[in-house]
Amino acid sequence: MSKISKLFAVKDVYNPEASDALYVEAMRENCAFSYNNCKEYQKILDAKGFKPKTITKMEDIERLPFIPTATFKRHELYSMPKHRHFIKATSSGTSSGIRSKVALDFTGCLHALRMVFKVMNQRHVISLRPCHYMVLGYKPNRHNEMAVMKTAYGFTWLAPALSRTYALKYSNGSYAPDLEGIINAVLKKGRGRAPVRFMGFPAYTYFVLKMMKDRGLSVKLPEHSMIMLGGGWKQFYKEAVDKETFYQLAWEVLGIPEDRIVESFGAVEHPVLYLDCPHHHFHVPAYSRVFIRDPHTLEVLPYGRVGLVNLTTPMIKATPLLSVMTDDLGILHNEPCPCGCKSPYLEIIGRVGLKDIKTCAAGAAKLLEGGMDK
Ligand SMILES: [Zn+2]
Repeated sequence: MSKISKLFAVKDVYNPEASDALYVEAMRENCAFSYNNCKEYQKILDAKGFKPKTITKMEDIERLPFIPTATFKRHELYSMPKHRHFIKATSSGTSSGIRSKVALDFTGCLHALRMVFKVMNQRHVISLRPCHYMVLGYKPNRHNEMAVMKTAYGFTWLAPALSRTYALKYSNGSYAPDLEGIINAVLKKGRGRAPVRFMGFPAYTYFVLKMMKDRGLSVKLPEHSMIMLGGGWKQFYKEAVDKETFYQLAWEVLGIPEDRIVESFGAVEHPVLYLDCPHHHFHVPAYSRVFIRDPHTLEVLPYGRVGLVNLTTPMIKATPLLSVMTDDLGILHNEPCPCGCKSPYLEIIGRVGLKDIKTCAAGAAKLLEGGMDK
């Protein structure tokens, strides 16, 4: 069994001490593969005089040259031929329409599946109880390879689906929001016996809750109903809606308690699933390690300091995603969490001021005003 597969089989997902040694070996294994099979990656490492076999401890992963996520928007980097690209995914795009393209290999996808089940189980998201889904995101269509859409759709398999209602529908070459359709479906299906699950962009979920509250509409959703949020809260910072307000609104309008609100995040360039714990902290799982770097010197900062978020994982072999540098600003916390997880947790606090970088979620308000290309 490869070291990477062993890492994805670890029992204790949130105990870094138990997986550190294996993590280092898995990174070395993937690094050697990527170095030998991707010319561009080889060039990047050679330029820094870095050899994969020198990865023997965690500090070596800090030294491993990282690739900025913006690079994947301009270049397609692959370590496997096209016929071995099992899934292709693109980022949500920016206002300039440039997206990252990433290919996932079959084994990488199996690891991903294993990860999703283990991580989701922590919050009892996987269930055999059939439910109605309200997808506050894109309805899949064959022209669309966006990872957020695939993820949201994938999450509608975590419990059997009685129905799926989508907020963003595709017609005549673009997506248009239909929040009224969601509200009608919530009022209708929410009065039945089966639980209702919301999933998708926090912005849309918030808009729906706010619209319902403003109209004096509320429903007490059946037990086991839940809200799954994914795709980021960044737009909330601007609108000054904090999470507490959101939780309060969900309780008032839908009768969903805070412990049934689960948030996740991930990125096309780093397809590791981060799920918040009951205290809403994003603990780093065994499958990745996070470094926070000084924006000027790029040196790794200690816990508790704000810096650029550098994400590492040996999960995928088809694209060299071993170490990617995001344009997110974050903090890695290492204080004990009441949930009992031993791993540090990541707090994303915003994005570096590049005005043309806007995620699709952040563009939600714009989309509501007038349509947006797929
Ligand atoms: Zn926790």
